[in-house]
Amino acid sequence: MKPKEHLLSTLKRIDRRGYKAYMDIKGAYDFGRFSLSVDHVQGDPFAAPSRVSVKATRADTGFDPSLFSNDIRRVAAADFLTRTFHRAILNTAKGSRGMGKSGMVSIDNPGQEVIRRNSCVISNDTIEVRFVVGLPAAGRTILGHEAVAIFFDEIPEMVNKALSVKNVGADDFSAHVDSIEDQEHLRKLLSEMGLSAFVADGSILPRRSGVDDRPLARDAVPFRSPESLKVSATLPHRGEVHGMGIPAGVTLIVGGGFHGKSTLLTAIERGVYPHIPGDGRELVATDPMAVKIRAEDGRYIEKVNISPFITNLPMGRDTIQFTTENASGSTSQAANIMEALEMGTSLLLIDEDTSATNFMIRDERMQELISKDKEPITPFVDKVGKLNTDNGVSTILVMGGSGDYFDVADTVIAMENYVPVDVSERAGEIARKHAASRTDEGGEKFGEITQRRPNPSCFNPSKGKREVKIDAKGLKKILYGRLDIDLTGLAQIVDVSQTRAIGNIIHIYATRYATKGLTLKEGIVMVISELEEKGLDMLLPYKVGNLAAPRIFEVAGAVNRMRTLRVK
Ligand code: ADP
Ligand code: MG
Repeated sequence: MKPKEHLLSTLKRIDRRGYKAYMDIKGAYDFGRFSLSVDHVQGDPFAAPSRVSVKATRADTGFDPSLFSNDIRRVAAADFLTRTFHRAILNTAKGSRGMGKSGMVSIDNPGQEVIRRNSCVISNDTIEVRFVVGLPAAGRTILGHEAVAIFFDEIPEMVNKALSVKNVGADDFSAHVDSIEDQEHLRKLLSEMGLSAFVADGSILPRRSGVDDRPLARDAVPFRSPESLKVSATLPHRGEVHGMGIPAGVTLIVGGGFHGKSTLLTAIERGVYPHIPGDGRELVATDPMAVKIRAEDGRYIEKVNISPFITNLPMGRDTIQFTTENASGSTSQAANIMEALEMGTSLLLIDEDTSATNFMIRDERMQELISKDKEPITPFVDKVGKLNTDNGVSTILVMGGSGDYFDVADTVIAMENYVPVDVSERAGEIARKHAASRTDEGGEKFGEITQRRPNPSCFNPSKGKREVKIDAKGLKKILYGRLDIDLTGLAQIVDVSQTRAIGNIIHIYATRYATKGLTLKEGIVMVISELEEKGLDMLLPYKVGNLAAPRIFEVAGAVNRMRTLRVK
């Protein structure tokens, strides 16, 4: 490591020279309280900004070692310090200092969920924060004095604000870490409590808007469990909490339009992740293997066995190895379910708002008009119970439009003015009173879940080009070489850094695991376990700070949506 004066003299020396001379500042410098490393230098002021990191010893920060005492506490602490550093940048960086990205300083900016990420890396004795800096220039002429201001005034000030116990609210920090640890604990308790999900009393579920995931600020009705579904759990920091337990099995959420059904289901779908204190959904915990399912017409499907739901398609099309460039609503929803089952989901989350009607229901009158031999689709209502009894897979389903599901539901929750009511018994009585005269078309068993083995050559992202570019383009799109992967159908991707990580995970999967003749599930499970063991840094040969961990379902979901995917 060089003394910081070395960086100062280099910046003075290259002032007013061509942009390429910035290459000379690459390297690590001793700033006393911390070290600063220029990890990558951009090619011009309009290119992706340069990657910079700062590292302090844990002892020098003064943070209490108990904040870092286990893996989940380190994940929470890294999240907290990323947010703190983000705020420090906003309060410190001048911003524009020339052309293009000159002067910009930026770090990953997490949303409401807390996810493992590498914007901040906490080791046994150090804390490293990674961000990017637009090295300043006018045209291609280096503005050395502006760079000096960034490296010698702004960044030390940010480190001071974010990585020192004196300036970071110690109480906020420990409250954050304790809360995340509680949330993970709660999520782990679910299976032994026999629950698919838990929603604590007092939770605030509605969001500000469709594009603002923060809690609704005014007039939010706090969640209140019906007595009959009330359970309690004891958390390590917060102690006993009360709320609604949704038992494993088949659960319906019913109720009038605009009464809060989808809001509850969305909170449950996000409950696979912890949330920041103040989010309102901190104590909404969901089976971590839950997958949100929707219809997604137009998607690509490669050799998925959708035969439990769909058989006898026109023209004799195969539904055991169903392939299409352009799925319909019902075939896409069937494939989304079968792919989630292939990866080992234990809870399906389905909303009528985003489902194909003909996939969900087929009533008595329609059964009489269009006989079973003319209808390829076996509706979900005839499979959801068998999925639970045969395969141990639960479902939580929002269904305000059809009472046919009363026959197969274990629990029925009605949302009335945003407050849940347990109407299971009443729904059971109604089901007996108006005994459905529709015929169960689901057969004896749920049907087979088929594991597929992808063909490794279909993942080659370069397609003849030498440089392979893998990146995220927004939350729901991956650029994988020349291929775009559309992830709009995957509701549980919550951070663009996850999207970016998925692209890189697919590359590792393709080069190291797909070649071994493993099934898709075996291969992805192996990459994810390697990732858990080695950390997100294993994904790239150089240091970045913009990756966050996805779940196996979203990785598989992306692979399944690659239009180049070929299965043996
Ligand atoms: P549904 O699916 O039953 O039609 P939604 O869940 O879409 O209803 O909710 C309808 C509206 O009510 C949304 O704008 C939502 O933000 C709001 N909302 C939902 N739950 C609450 C609540 N607990 N308090 C206040 N507003 C809520
Ligand atoms: Mg709705």
